[in-house]
Amino acid sequence: MIKGALNRFREGLRKTRDGLVGGLRGLFGGRVKLDQETLDRIEELLISADMGVQSSVAITRSIEKRLKEEGGEASLDAVLTVIRADVQRILSTAKPRIRPLSWDDEAVGGKGGRKKNKDRGEAADAAAAPAGPHVIFVVGVNGTGKTTTIAKLAHLFKGEGRRVLLAAGDTFRAAAVEQLGVWADRIGVECVKQGHGADPAAVVFDALSAAEARGADLVIVDTAGRLHTKSNLMDELGKVARVIRRKTGRDPETLLVVDANTGQNGLSQAKVFAETVPVDALVLTKLDGTAKGGIVVAIAETLGLPVRYVGMGEKVTDLAPFDVEQFTDALFAGWTDGEAAGDEA
Ligand code: GDP
Ligand code: GDP
Ligand code: MG
Repeated sequence: MIKGALNRFREGLRKTRDGLVGGLRGLFGGRVKLDQETLDRIEELLISADMGVQSSVAITRSIEKRLKEEGGEASLDAVLTVIRADVQRILSTAKPRIRPLSWDDEAVGGKGGRKKNKDRGEAADAAAAPAGPHVIFVVGVNGTGKTTTIAKLAHLFKGEGRRVLLAAGDTFRAAAVEQLGVWADRIGVECVKQGHGADPAAVVFDALSAAEARGADLVIVDTAGRLHTKSNLMDELGKVARVIRRKTGRDPETLLVVDANTGQNGLSQAKVFAETVPVDALVLTKLDGTAKGGIVVAIAETLGLPVRYVGMGEKVTDLAPFDVEQFTDALFAGWTDGEAAGDEA
């Protein structure tokens, strides 16, 4: 199982690894002098893997600092050891860099002023309403892979014996409702939908009623990824989230979907979402086929939110829980395996 996930990460990160480790290998034929020019090249390679400027500069500095002790010369091995340790440290110590929001905040179109913390809010609301299903609320920019990710999550949780129901909350695009329905049929889960243009909050209300009636314990909600203005985004998502809270007595678990290919631009769009609505964790999609897998590091740097799942293909089985160890192992695979010719390890 664990081996399987590691192999998937390896395959998914192949292009990123080829670019980064391959690039470094080209730079280091045996031991090289760590002069400014070499350090600049290392920094460039890190930035082109989309690791984020701040992290790339920090990692390069740490290479310079730690390897100066070895007389200013270094092997590929030594440099990769430093990069790997730094990437692991950045990923495992990331703290949220976004002000925590609550669905009650005025910023999310709520009443505001209540300023109660999330736990107290949940407890208070739970007293007023019977506990309903767990709700996963999937948000993000159009085309990032929300609907596909929902299908993957439904498949995953159904396989774990959960009774899953989908809510077609993206009523903005005509094809979106149909797309989710097709996935639901294929996976063998129920999908609650209304017509194109329907109020997403009403669709979700229906879905939660259906979940209650049928004993579903997990509802996954699709949403439209409109980013016209922050305020219509918050209005729509905030309204849906408050329906979920009223019906289930709990806040939804909100997953923000980010496309690994969209680089810094996608990251700033994701930031708008995370600054607008409460986000619990991220799903990073399309890691297959990108040479920009280092974006995981840039995410830690700019958002500091945990990556919970990674999408590596278009099939329902192409989803893996994110794991720092596996990710870094896979990013440096080949080198760690001693596959790389001429390494000292
Ligand atoms: P709860 O504790 O009242 O929410 O009871 P649940 O049985 O719904 O969930 C138990 C725990 O598992 C909670 O901490 C939930 O956040 C978590 N959980 C439940 N369902 C899911 C799920 O589908 N995905 C994830 N990631 N966590 C879940
Ligand atoms: P949405 O607009 O956010 O709902 O995005 P969709 O789920 O409709 O996905 C947009 C496109 O990205 C579709 O063609 C999907 O097949 C594709 N896609 C989604 N996730 C992945 C992934 O992990 N890998 C690849 N290669 N394609 C993906
Ligand atoms: Mg969609």
